[in-house]
Amino acid sequence: MNTADSVTKAPPGPPTATLLEPWADSLELAVLFEPATRRILEVNRAFARKFGQQAPVWMDHDLGSLLHTEDTPDWTAAAPRLSRPPYHIAREHRWQTAQGWRWIAWEETALRDTEGQVQAVRAIGRDVTKHRLAEEHFRKLAQAFEQAPVSIVITTPGGTPQYVNSRFTEVTGYTLEEIFEHQIPLLRDGHPSEAAYRHFCALVASGKKWSGELRSRRKDGSELWELVQISPIRNHLDEITYLLCLREDITERKALEDQLRQAQKMESLGTLAGGIAHDFNNIISIIRGFTELSLSMTGEDPRLNRYLGSVHAAAVRASTLVRQILAFSRKNEVAYRAVHINDLVRELAGLLSETFPRDIEQVYEFDDSIETFAADPDQIRQVVMNLCVNARDAMPGGGSLTLTTNRVSGRDISHLKVDPAQDYAHIRVADTGVGMSAEVRARIFEPFFTTKQDHGGTGLGLAVVYGIVANHHGVIDLESEPGKGTAFHVYIPLKIRADVHAPPAEHPPKAKLPPGNERILIVEDEAPIQEMLGEALEAAGYTVEAALDGGEAIERILGSDTKHDLIVLDLNLPRMGGIDVLKVIRARTPDFPVLIMTGNLNASAKAELETLGQKHAIEKPFDLVAFGHTLRQILDASREA
Ligand code: ADP
Ligand code: MG
Repeated sequence: MNTADSVTKAPPGPPTATLLEPWADSLELAVLFEPATRRILEVNRAFARKFGQQAPVWMDHDLGSLLHTEDTPDWTAAAPRLSRPPYHIAREHRWQTAQGWRWIAWEETALRDTEGQVQAVRAIGRDVTKHRLAEEHFRKLAQAFEQAPVSIVITTPGGTPQYVNSRFTEVTGYTLEEIFEHQIPLLRDGHPSEAAYRHFCALVASGKKWSGELRSRRKDGSELWELVQISPIRNHLDEITYLLCLREDITERKALEDQLRQAQKMESLGTLAGGIAHDFNNIISIIRGFTELSLSMTGEDPRLNRYLGSVHAAAVRASTLVRQILAFSRKNEVAYRAVHINDLVRELAGLLSETFPRDIEQVYEFDDSIETFAADPDQIRQVVMNLCVNARDAMPGGGSLTLTTNRVSGRDISHLKVDPAQDYAHIRVADTGVGMSAEVRARIFEPFFTTKQDHGGTGLGLAVVYGIVANHHGVIDLESEPGKGTAFHVYIPLKIRADVHAPPAEHPPKAKLPPGNERILIVEDEAPIQEMLGEALEAAGYTVEAALDGGEAIERILGSDTKHDLIVLDLNLPRMGGIDVLKVIRARTPDFPVLIMTGNLNASAKAELETLGQKHAIEKPFDLVAFGHTLRQILDASREA
């Protein structure tokens, strides 16, 4: 419609009814009105029906008053366009009809006289409410799709992409062009096997829903775990025309689950190993103690000395092993001292260059910005040593071992769930050896897991590393692939602590206990240990009494008229625990000399002893001479006091 609709003859007065004649029986609404006043000049039957009044009622009625008030400004603003070429506009607004508010799309044409003056406007309209609502509904859905936190993909039944939302491009890294131009088959990726994929296709083609976890890859090749649900979209004939695919990125959750599983496994193994190690401590104490006693009695028989010396050496080796298991089970205390990691590694380097095969090249890179920090130097040395020994074992045909230290911020290794506000000493031990498969990688920190059964592997090396690093509140990471070598990364928090103290010195086994003549009460439930201590002390001149449990100890302390000078007290006692015995003693005589013995001096036991004012404790297994010296020191100190 255009200017052909203009009035060819100037009508006398207002336009006549004949102007809407062609629309008299039309289903379209037709209205003629005067633009300046909006006064209705004529309506057809459809209009009258729509607005609920007989046609004559509408004469002279203000057309604008039928409009939704919110739409009035827009409607009014568009009006002047009717007095300019092409004298025609199309617009949609809400109108107050007999059925309530309805969207009506109008085609409006200005009718002009021969001078070109607009005399009237003819508006032909259709109710487009259904369309509008459908469109709005569609817009809402489209926005929801675009903003959904899951990836949404629509494909043909064959898997050709038709639609992907922005989450999908964000997660996968593919652009829309790549997806649509290269027709990436979006449903293929991630199925564990060709057979699994075919099964999936058959299921979906039969109109069933499919859901499962798929491990696919992003555009950059990195791994992506998704929870995927696929369901058919059908047309009005019930044919499957499209597939709707919802994909939730669960990569992080998967990683956390793995971590949790690993942590739980290590925790339970630690508890188990710790339990065994505890009993072993007592057994080894007995072996060590009696051997030392026997050694002090053998005189000059060289063979007997040698035999007992071997037994003692074996027992010492066994205690080292137990210490390692305790280190793993985290029952071991960290003896914090000031550690300079570079010095420590340099010192080890000397040892390694002497003992490692010549065909292993050693490379060291030190970052001198790492300050001295608090850690247990013996334990850290053990960590580095164990990693280096493993690296050596992984390079039977030679290769290169690289030790690097540097300082990193927790922010840079946040994927390891460390404190981002903390700085870490980073120790990297890398080799060019055989590397590890995923199956081996998953188990290396388990105690007794080894692939070196035939070469004397104990499977304790990395278990110890794990325990020590965890005890220092650090983390371990590794990269390894079969044939491509391995790199272990150890991160220890760079904390400075003031309460650092020196470790006890080792004594040669044959030296005698310092002599004394005081009366000692030994409270210990393991008869052999009690006997061993008793004999050693008596040999050194002491008078010894013994109690086998807490109750008996109390009876002796309270009941007897023999006055003891010192009580040696085991913490782990039947009937009444050592702590309770100690409480009774302290209640009577707060300063009474007590030496605590324990196989497990953990932080909570330590705290409890501290609140009871207990200063002296010795950890099993100990050597007898160290025990004798400690005992002597306590007695001398209490005499001076
Ligand atoms: P062990 O060395 O006694 O076998 P570990 O706990 O030290 O016990 O190591 C466990 C296992 O981890 C080894 O048997 C080996 O399979 C694997 N492993 C450890 N370090 C490396 C490495 N640097 N390269 C390849 N495999 C290693
Ligand atoms: Mg090892």
